[in-house]
Amino acid sequence: MQKFCQACGMPLIKKEDFAGGDENSNFCAYCVNADGSVKSCEEIFEGGVQFFISQIGNDRKLAEKITRKNMNGQPYWQGKDCPILKGETATDEEFAEVLKNLS
Ligand SMILES: [Zn+2]
Repeated sequence: MQKFCQACGMPLIKKEDFAGGDENSNFCAYCVNADGSVKSCEEIFEGGVQFFISQIGNDRKLAEKITRKNMNGQPYWQGKDCPILKGETATDEEFAEVLKNLS
């Protein structure tokens, strides 16, 4: 069964995609600190923004909106009070368009 990181939605395919190389983990290697704890909302948000900028070009505002949309849809953030995830969010259309073109 295909697994996805519960914090950022990245597909977990190869062993090294998983946090700590542990295929039982529900998080990717990028979202977890060396001690195994999940990174802060702000850190994961910034990582997402940088990732989407690398995909869509240097449009930080759009990258932030896409990252917000993405993270707000992930199970880990449900019920968490994370100020950076509030604010302008991409529409379903903008989000679908970016996902379609991911490389
Ligand atoms: Zn992740």
